[in-house]
Amino acid sequence: MHKDLMRLLRATVRGHLLVVLGSAVLAGVLVLVQAELLAGVLSGRFPAAVLLGLALVVGLRALLGWFQGVYGGRLATGAKSELRRRLLDRFGRLGPVRLSSRRSGELLTLVGRGLDRLDPYLTGYLPAVAVAAVVPLAVLIRLFTSDLASAVIVLVTLPLIPIFGALVGMHTKTVTERQFHALSRLGGHFLDVVRGLPTLRAFGRARHQATVIRSVADAHRSATMRTLRVAFLSALVLELCASLSLALVAVPVGLRLLGGNLDLTTALLVLLLAPEAYLPLRVMGTRFHASMEGVAAADAAFAVLDDTDPTRPDTDPARLDTELPKPSTPAVGEPPEDGRPTPGEPADDRRLALGRPRPEQTPAADPAPPEIRLEHVTATYPGQDEPALSDVTLTISPGERVALVGESGGGKSTLLNLLLGFLTPTSGRILVDGTDLQDLDLTEWRARTAYVPQRPHLFTVSVADNIRLGAPEAPLPAVRQAAAHAHASDFIEALPHGYDTLVGERAANLSAGQRQRIALARAFCRPDASILLLDEPTARLDGRSEAAIVAATGDLAHDRTAIIVAHRPAMIDLADRVIRIHRGRIVSDTTRTTAPLAQPTPTRNAQ
Ligand code: ADP
Ligand code: MG
Repeated sequence: MHKDLMRLLRATVRGHLLVVLGSAVLAGVLVLVQAELLAGVLSGRFPAAVLLGLALVVGLRALLGWFQGVYGGRLATGAKSELRRRLLDRFGRLGPVRLSSRRSGELLTLVGRGLDRLDPYLTGYLPAVAVAAVVPLAVLIRLFTSDLASAVIVLVTLPLIPIFGALVGMHTKTVTERQFHALSRLGGHFLDVVRGLPTLRAFGRARHQATVIRSVADAHRSATMRTLRVAFLSALVLELCASLSLALVAVPVGLRLLGGNLDLTTALLVLLLAPEAYLPLRVMGTRFHASMEGVAAADAAFAVLDDTDPTRPDTDPARLDTELPKPSTPAVGEPPEDGRPTPGEPADDRRLALGRPRPEQTPAADPAPPEIRLEHVTATYPGQDEPALSDVTLTISPGERVALVGESGGGKSTLLNLLLGFLTPTSGRILVDGTDLQDLDLTEWRARTAYVPQRPHLFTVSVADNIRLGAPEAPLPAVRQAAAHAHASDFIEALPHGYDTLVGERAANLSAGQRQRIALARAFCRPDASILLLDEPTARLDGRSEAAIVAATGDLAHDRTAIIVAHRPAMIDLADRVIRIHRGRIVSDTTRTTAPLAQPTPTRNAQ
């Protein structure tokens, strides 16, 4: 039995579990009563009126079966939604760096179809185990009290079923794990191909990918066939075993009955009861195979849940870029704040389906920018051998505007990842006003930052909700102002529903530059943040927008610490300190003493 899963069931759906197991066992035990009554009536020992009692028992068993079905459904639904909830929560906690090392399609398969495979385990296998633990024992006891010889035969042959079952099922786990893995791979690859379809078409590789998908699907098919073969073989062996054992019981009973050594009631009772001793074990064997895929899915799910960062007990949700804003429109159908009619978009439905309740209020941000100090920081990404940053020592004073420059792959984004706590240093430490970042509450720390990642993600919610991601309480005027600062208001207002326009899946209805400007507006919509972290904010903008953004960034950086990864001269000119990073090391650190565009003078920390 799956230990983690059982723990989860006990913690969340204990009541339903008890009802399901209880009614299954009770229905099994009622079989004994039924056999008893039937044998008595048939042999003429009981009056015909007892048939009424028999009907009652049959009715009761039907009722118990109904209970088992209904509560089994609730048990499965409850357990699956709890597991899904924990998984989604975990995805948020893993943070972008660790999560990006997994394939999203595989995670998608796991959360969706994978967990659905748990149904046979929860509603079929678990009750079967409970019945198999109780009913054969009860039957044996009853047999021992009525006919010793038959009881001994049953006792000796009964263990054969689990033994043969175990022999056949020995490599079931590997086979079904392979099958589940093939299914995940299929899901992962399929998502990848669908996303890249325009690229594949343009490069004439779409047909080739079709063959790849066919071969992955073929692998899944053959893995499924292998599982089925094992399952059928197992069923055959168990049936054969049970039939032979039954014959061993029935033949002597018949002979003894003919010889007059056994009375009819006992003979009938033995013949009716003996199959009931084998049945639960056979059912358990069959259900075991049907439920193995669910077990493989549960293993995969718990593997994700247990994937903790060894250097950090629990990384908090990356609220900046992974958490969805709370629905801004209070209820479906109500007019938005600015009084314009609600557009006929499925925005609210989708938003409700996607959004999860915001756990707590954003902590009050510390208004003063802190001093940030890196001491001999080396950082290596999970699964990599080479460090992305090595031995970086750096002090950023409060209110400083730092431009990070250098060729791509140098480690600039990595430095921002470190400052945000997405990545923990392998050695060295990061101090914020003298406190190690590892000891800071990451939620509070991130609430002090406004971050625009290199490839910002927009969620399938309205444009306004995307902008107020980091400040869910922001009213629409504040959102509009932020958009205006980021030079996004013109194109947003030109969208079919303005700020209420639903951003398409993966923001397909916006250009790269427009996406970038919405992401920038997000940073502008966090007026309390005292640290700006911008990763190439103007990389995808044209010259005119760039100039405007540079000016706006200059305003935003006022009284704040700004760390800006920059390539273009205009953005670099904004900074009063330029740090060049090459191959994970700081190669120059220049502070401009006078106004921008003055002659740079090499100073501190040059390594
Ligand atoms: P830059 O932002 O300066 O272009 P990055 O900081 O993104 O460079 O990358 C620095 C190095 O770290 C590169 O060699 C890159 O391949 C590696 N790297 C970046 N992100 C990851 C990641 N999520 N997992 C593994 N390696 C990464
Ligand atoms: Mg980068």
